[in-house]
Parts: sequence; C-alpha cells; structure tokens
Amino acid sequence: MISMEAKIEAYYNFVCKYYNLSNDIVKKNVIISHIKKADKIILLALYSYILILNIFTYIFFFKSFSKISYLNQKKIYKFFSIFNFIVSKIDDFLLIIISFHQYGSEKIEKLNLNEKVTEENENFKFVVIGSGPSGSVVSNELNKNFNGEVLVIEKGDYYDLPSTKHPGDEFKKKWYRGGLNSTYFPEMVAYSSGSCMGGGSEINSGLYHEPDEIFLNNWRDEFLTDSITLAENQAYIEKIRELVNYENNENSDFFSNFFQALDISSKGNSKLKRFISNDNIKNSMSKTLLKEYIENNGKVSLNTEVIRINFIENKWRLQIKSKNKKYNIYAENLFLCCGSIFTNQLLLKSRISKGMKKIIRHFNFHPMLKAVGIYEKNIQELNEDVVAIQNIDNYPNHIIGNATSSVQFILSSFHYNKKIRNFVKQYWKKMKIFHVTFSLGKGRIFNIPFFKNPLLLYRLNSNEKISMIKGYRELIKFIKKTKANSIIPIGNKKIDLIKYNYFNKYSNSLNTIKNLQMSSVHILGGVTMGEAKNCVANSYGKINENENLYVCDSSLINTKLLKNPQGTVMMLAYRNIDHFIKNYKSKG
Ligand SMILES: Cc1cc2nc3c(=O)[nH]c(=O)nc-3n(C[C@H](O)[C@H](O)[C@H](O)COP(=O)(O)OP(=O)(O)OC[C@H]3O[C@@H](n4cnc5c(N)ncnc54)[C@H](O)[C@@H]3O)c2cc1C
Repeated sequence: MISMEAKIEAYYNFVCKYYNLSNDIVKKNVIISHIKKADKIILLALYSYILILNIFTYIFFFKSFSKISYLNQKKIYKFFSIFNFIVSKIDDFLLIIISFHQYGSEKIEKLNLNEKVTEENENFKFVVIGSGPSGSVVSNELNKNFNGEVLVIEKGDYYDLPSTKHPGDEFKKKWYRGGLNSTYFPEMVAYSSGSCMGGGSEINSGLYHEPDEIFLNNWRDEFLTDSITLAENQAYIEKIRELVNYENNENSDFFSNFFQALDISSKGNSKLKRFISNDNIKNSMSKTLLKEYIENNGKVSLNTEVIRINFIENKWRLQIKSKNKKYNIYAENLFLCCGSIFTNQLLLKSRISKGMKKIIRHFNFHPMLKAVGIYEKNIQELNEDVVAIQNIDNYPNHIIGNATSSVQFILSSFHYNKKIRNFVKQYWKKMKIFHVTFSLGKGRIFNIPFFKNPLLLYRLNSNEKISMIKGYRELIKFIKKTKANSIIPIGNKKIDLIKYNYFNKYSNSLNTIKNLQMSSVHILGGVTMGEAKNCVANSYGKINENENLYVCDSSLINTKLLKNPQGTVMMLAYRNIDHFIKNYKSKG
C-alpha cells in the first residue's frame, strides 16, 4: 500500500508536468513539508481528493495514480475536473506553494539563542505569552524593571530576516500555517499572521502609521477608557518613533507614477515612515526590542505553545507544549500577547470571562481587494519590496496602496487561467499589484474539539459589500491615474485583462464583489478595554474579575482603525505595561 505522502508526491509530480513547472528533488521535499503546514481544513480537502483520485485509478487502471502513465493521469484528472471548484482550489493551493519556492528561493537562517529550558512546575514572576510587537514591548519594559525575572513564551522559532521580499522559506518557517489560511463562510478571506520570534513584525512591510487622534477619542467614548487620548500617550509614541524612518527609494518610476496620481492638495498624500533603521535595515522586533531583552538577561522559551491557563492557589497555571512534551509551569503575573484571535482563543479555551464569551469570540479584519496595473516600462524587480506610499483621499472609507508584486504573487492569483498565466510570466516586470483596504465586516472564532487552531468565520453585510464595490471602482480610477495601460482584477476565472479604454466600462459594470478575491493581513479585536459594561478588561488591559492577568496586544483594538496597526499596538502595550509597573512597585 502506498503511503499518503507518496500519493501527494505523485500528484505533485503530475501538477508540475501539467503546468509546465520545474520539479527538482530538493525543492520537492521542501514544498511537500510546506504543504503539510497548511490549514487542517485545506489538508483534509487535499487528502480526501487524493484518496478518491487513487480509488478511481484503481477502478479504471488497477493501479495507483503514481503507477499509471502521464497520459492516463491526464485522463483521470480531466474526469475529475467536473468537480471543478474543488480541483481548481486544490491546484491553486499547490501552485501557490510551488511558485513561492520557485521564484523566492532565498533560504533563511535559524538563529541560536541561549534558550530557557523550563522545568515541570517551575514558577516565574512574570510570563509574557507571544513575542510580536506587543510581547516585545511588554517583556523588554518588565525586564528593565525586574531584571532576569521575565519569561517570554513563543510558539514559533527564531530566524534571521531575509534580504528579499517573502521567499518561500519565510512562509514555511515564519508564517502561521505556512501562510495558507482562509475563512470559509460566508466570505472567503485569505488571512495571515506571523508565528516566530518577533511575530508579525518579522514578516510585515513595517509601514508605520502614528496612532490616530480621532480613533483614540472614539475608543474613549465607546468604551469609557481612561487616559487613552493622543495627548496622554505622547511619551510612548516618542519611543516608537525611535524605530521608524523614511526610506530612500523614491527615485523609482513607479514611485513617481504613484505620487503624481495622488491629489497632493488634499489629504490624499500619505508618504509613510517604516520600521527601519537610519541605514534602511528593517527594525523588526527580533533586531531591536527583543535583542535588547535577550542581551539583558531576558529569558525566552521557543517552540513552546500555551494551550490553556487557569488560576490556582494564587498563581496562573500554564499548560504548555514544549518540544513535544506537555507539562505545567506557573506565573505570578501573566501577560497575553498572542495577537488577536489567538489571545481570544486562549481565553475561550480556558473558560476565562465566560460571561463575556460572545464579545471575545469577535474579531475584525481589514479586508483587501486587489488589481494588477500594467505599464509600458519595466517597474518591478524579482522579490522587490512595496513602496511606502498610500492614497488616503477616501479615508476612512478605504485606503489604496501598493502590495507585494513580485511574479509569484501575481501568478498565485491566476494559475487557473492559462492565458493570463502565460501573459504574467512574460510581462511581470511591467506589473504592480494595488490594494484597496477597508475596515469592514465582522469575524467569529470557533474552537472545534480536536482541532488545535481556531476556525474563523467572516461576514459582510450588503451595505458593506456596496462600499467595497465603490472602493474597487476608486481603485481602478486610481490605477488609471498612475498611467497603467491595462489592468487585471484579482479574482476568479471569469476575469480577463482590461485595456485602458475599457476601464470605465468595467468599473461601471461591477455590481458584486463575489468574483474578486479577498485577503487580510490585519487581525484585530476581541478583548474590549475600558470601564464600559461590555468591557472584558479594565482601562489598562487587566482582565476583569481575574487576578494578575493582562492583555496588551492587537485584540484590544475594537474601534474602527483603518491604519497599519503595529504603531498603535505598540503604543497600547507601552501604556498598559507602564501602568502595571507603576502599580506593582507602588504596592511594594
Ligand atoms: C503580512 C503582514 C503584513 C503586515 N504589514 C503591516 C505593516 O506594514 N504595518 C503595520 O503596522 N502592520 C502590519 N501588519 C500587522 C502587524 O504585523 C500586526 O498588527 C502586529 O504584528 C500585531 O502584533 P501582536 O503583538 O498583537 O501579535 P503578533 O505580531 O501576531 O504576535 C503574536 C505572537 O504570539 C505567538 N503566539 C500566539 N499564540 C501563542 C501561544 N498560545 N503560545 C505561544 N505563543 C503564541 C505567535 O506565534 C506570534 O509570534 C502586517 C501583518 C502581516 C501578517
């Protein structure tokens, strides 16, 4: 009997041949291990499909799929194409992973760390779960005040930054589920987050938006939160400003096209700072705050996941899985910095604030729709970074910006369409991806028995969908202004290349977002913070009716924020931990 692994390999070999892709042994092993990291629902669909495919080849040819000729494989494959939706989704999934590794072949180095190996029942004064922007701020500030008494727990591993934008190895090693996730119902939104030392800051574009005054005032009014205004948090913002800078990449043709398309007399001009050093090097958390933390005696436990927490004899008991062993450790003070959906999931699984579970179940995305602009000149290099400029003419309805545009990211949306796929392969250097981003819709988290990770649902109401259509029309208009001669909307099979003269016709005919692909890289909300009745935590992130349990991460953002959130997440973390430290010290 052939193993499932061998069956997957046989199908992978077939897909490479069918789509005319190179298939070398080394990459094949990497890609197959990447496939296994994906969302369990995607894997379940893949395994079921491959199993059924093999049953049919046994019925028709008395052999497994791997043993029949390519010609017969093609026949069986064509037969299965009547289940077009499933087969094309599975092929998309495989082809995305293949093209990530094919065009982004840089390997990323594992970094060594003098890790803290925790012992069963070991006790710690301060434990921080998660090492993203929030966990980095919290652990570093705690360690400055209580040196050597802080433990950071991170479920991912510790890797260097790549020099190119998003190589395949980065997806495999640093992205949650290898970068392959989606909500399935009622809307399909592909979403991503970081799962490594430094969290999202290691894989994100590092675009910096300063915390927004109106947003903070709205938050105060909605949740009756103390000291949340911009003026009251300037000192924390100053600390974040030390990590951000303008980039020196404004000489490119694309940057000037983008810039000229903006209405610079209005609020539409938004050139962004980034989390980068004076020398243009990315200031991710592992290179800045976590570096300082480790150099100053801070303890870190990597590849360790907290599964459940509960309060027992005046301490928090953490059920952890570390290097394949499950055991408990204890914390006197516990800080949840797992990021939105994971902090929520941990609270739900641990049955904390049970009365608030309806609120904790919720989260928000910033859903994005995308289109490719095509230009006369070459404007894209392999694995090039995004340009740090956005059109905010229609803020707070939507913002428009440039998304990662290397060939594999364009191809990943068009594998199903041979004509466009070949066109992209030939002309990708003339293409850029644009996104229009919204703060719309509502998500719900479900914990499914025997599934480690949460299942997410996402819903948009009909007015929100209409707003997204309007936003997409603005996107087309904007791409036109950047002097693109054609566009390709990023969506499903029915979509084709649209020439300049037909932009308006296409835009006017658009009456649904059903045919467009949706994705999101910003996940927010679930833990409401303030003094209002519907708050899970008090004004400084302490979970109500629970001793010594604090939340400091992106789950605290429950007010509409159509901005890149890392700056705001860090401000909140500085603010909450500063309040904790002052309080703790004052109690002696
Ligand atoms: C591709 C991408 C691009 C982005 N671009 C930008 C941008 O340009 N600008 C911007 O401002 N924002 C951007 N963001 C968003 C930004 O990165 C996040 O808002 C930010 O990282 C959130 O910080 P956090 O600390 O709340 O959570 P995270 O950064 O998600 O960190 C949480 C950490 O906790 C760990 N963890 C979770 N659960 C557990 C557990 N149970 N046990 C142990 N460890 C656990 C995770 O592995 C992770 O490392 C982007 C995000 C992505 C994914």
